[in-house]
Amino acid sequence: MVYNWLNIEQFCLLCDERCDPEHSLCGACEADLPWLGPQCMVCALPLPAAGLICGQCLKRPPAFDQVVAPWRFDFPIDSLINRFKHQSRWPLGRLLAELLARHLKHLFNEDLPRPSALLPVPLASKRLRQRGFNQARMLADWLSPALRIPVRNELLQRTMDTPAQQQLDAAGRRRNLRQAFALPDKKQLHDQHLAIIDDVLTTGATAEALARLLKRAGAARVDIYCLARTPKPGD
Ligand SMILES: [Zn+2]
Ligand SMILES: [Zn+2]
Repeated sequence: MVYNWLNIEQFCLLCDERCDPEHSLCGACEADLPWLGPQCMVCALPLPAAGLICGQCLKRPPAFDQVVAPWRFDFPIDSLINRFKHQSRWPLGRLLAELLARHLKHLFNEDLPRPSALLPVPLASKRLRQRGFNQARMLADWLSPALRIPVRNELLQRTMDTPAQQQLDAAGRRRNLRQAFALPDKKQLHDQHLAIIDDVLTTGATAEALARLLKRAGAARVDIYCLARTPKPGD
């Protein structure tokens, strides 16, 4: 083909098959990802049927309005996220962010309201020093141009290094989390629709603590955008 030399060949990041130059995954690998399927309309917990709210959200409605997560935290998404986070594999993080952006654009076209800002979950400074980067911030920086929504890092800050959550009971964890974050400029939050960006939603405790803080400061709506959801809290 005459124009072939213009095309940069693209290979699927998962199976090495040649794929569409616009994408980093071939169609087969993309279809095989652990797409979340039927889920709680509030917290995205996988459920047997669509359009329902899970028992926990009914009993104790969370402070956040809606969780958006395209995938279950299962193979190969779990391994992609771990390699991005712990082996600094940026292209994998970027690929996941691109797919999340596409998923969100689709939902915005349906009926999901667009937030006015993206707020990455800040990392404790000790962990930031160990890892050298904040994966939530990187995801937000990749999502922002694709969605045309600004990242507002400065609105949400980490105040201190909290003790490891595993050693605490549920009440201790909530207390621990509430004290871990600060909002330096509450006026900016008034009546805003904000989206918190994180990589994986597990117990939802961090999301809940942040959403509650933001709502108390006057935010009108708080959504959580993340890559993956664990099947059950704590799994
Ligand atoms: Zn493939
Ligand atoms: Zn729920």
